[in-house]
Formats: sequence, structure tokens, C-alpha cells
Amino acid sequence: MTIPDGENTVTQSILTSRVCDPDAVMLIFYQNTVVLKALPRGEEFDTPVTDTMFWPVSVLAEIDSYVETLIPIDVALGSKNSIYAVLLAMWPETLTDTHAVATRQLLMERGFEAFSLVGRASQWINWYRFHRFCGACGCKNEAIRNGALLFCPGCETEYYPRINPCIIVLVTDANRVLLARSNRRGAAFFSCLAGFIEPGETAEEAVAREVYEEAGIQVTNIRYVKSQPWPFPSQLMLGFYADYAGGNLNPCPEELAEAGWFDVHSLPTVPSPTISVAGQLIEEYCRLKIHKD
Ligand SMILES: [Zn+2]
Repeated sequence: MTIPDGENTVTQSILTSRVCDPDAVMLIFYQNTVVLKALPRGEEFDTPVTDTMFWPVSVLAEIDSYVETLIPIDVALGSKNSIYAVLLAMWPETLTDTHAVATRQLLMERGFEAFSLVGRASQWINWYRFHRFCGACGCKNEAIRNGALLFCPGCETEYYPRINPCIIVLVTDANRVLLARSNRRGAAFFSCLAGFIEPGETAEEAVAREVYEEAGIQVTNIRYVKSQPWPFPSQLMLGFYADYAGGNLNPCPEELAEAGWFDVHSLPTVPSPTISVAGQLIEEYCRLKIHKD
């Protein structure tokens, strides 16, 4: 059997032979969803997500003609067995009793800890999906080193998975914190300010620039706290606190629907700390301040 991409014919024996560990498990992705095993109605939220997301490698025999790529994901992360991410090019009719869930929805429903392995695998899959062709010469890239590297046979450029660093910052002023709601459609939460680090910037410079651009104020005492991979599609969020240093709040309408100072005792709806580093920055700062009162 062959995969649908005629230029990149892969036989079943090659696909299966790439999985050396007979106890290996697979995470299966199709378009922007992760494919879970269907559970009886009502049991979805009581069952650990790991029980529904790992497929035995034996399933490859049923779906191999629909597989676009198979990428090994590190064995670490508490699993005894090898883990592979599988990207389907088309939906296999033989794969039944499934429940395809958008990766972002899985995070919102299950929290980051349960989601982390799916997030890691989805970044590999997205890297593959968006680097099928060489950006320098346009040739079709080839997956080498067991799928961990994309290589252009035309100009020999190598493509490794790319991570985009971003800053996310909670600006504070004693017992009040600066929170904003994005003007992206459907943004219901108030959260920290965030943005991509630009070429040539330090993370701290990006914090000062983003806060000034989005809110019109100056900050000082910028300090790094913690980070979080954010696989939508491939950001690494670097979380900071920064102290208010001056200026009048002037939200940028191209970025923010609204922004304001909120007392630590009366916050608006903010992200859960189980989901994002933004939620953790807000929760930890406010808890400390309230505890001191
Ligand atoms: Zn090339």
C-alpha cells in the first residue's frame, strides 16, 4: 500500500519498520485535531486523557495508506514506551470509534499537564505540515533521521523544528494589576500583555516595548518568572513580572479591545492557572498580595 502523496511513496513495511519497539504507542493527528478513542457519553471527563489518546502501533497496519508522516517523540515524559506522532493525510474509513478534538479544545478541557504531550507532538506535526517545501529553492523536502529533520535535496538546506519565543507579562503597581482583553474575536478573558520577541531584541527589551506599544506605559524591574510551551502553533511563552514606572494607560485599539487596572481583590474573568502561564502569573501575584493584607 502507498500513502496518497505519489511523490513520496512509502510502503507499509517501511512505515512499520520505522517503529522498532513493538510496545510503542502513537498519537494520531488529522488536520488541526488529535484523534482520541471514543468513550461512552458522560465518561469523557472522568477518564484520564492518556487512556484515550494512545493508540497501539498495531493500528498502523489498518491506517498506513492514509499516513502522511510518522515522527518519533521523545520517550521521556514518564512513558516507558516509545511514542510516535502520526499525521493522517486523509481520514481512514477503517478507523472507527474515534473522537477528533481540536488541540486547543483539549487544553481548555483537560488542563496543561494532561495536554503537554499532545502539545509537544502537535508542534512536530505542525512543523512538518508547514515545511513540506524548501523556502530557499522550492524543492520538496525529505524527512530524514527517522523523521526528526527535513532536508532539501535541491540545495541541501536542513530544517529543524522551529520555536517562536514570546513574552507574556503581568504589569503590577502595588495592589493593582494591569489586565487586558484582546480584540481577537471571541476573546472573553482579561489576561496579561503578550507579544513576539523581535529579531535582535532581548526578552526584557521585548517586555518594555510590548507594554509601551499595547498600553502606552513604561515599566521597570522586569524579572523573568517561568515559561510555557504554547503549541498554537509553536510559541514558547516567557513569563515576566514588571513594575509600573509611569505614563497614562492608552490601550492600542489594533491589539486590545480594552485594558485596565484591577485591584487584586476584585479581578475580572482571567485564564485558569491550570491552563496557562498567564493564569499562573496572575494567581500567584494576587495570592501573595492578598495574603499580606
Ligand atoms: Zn532547497
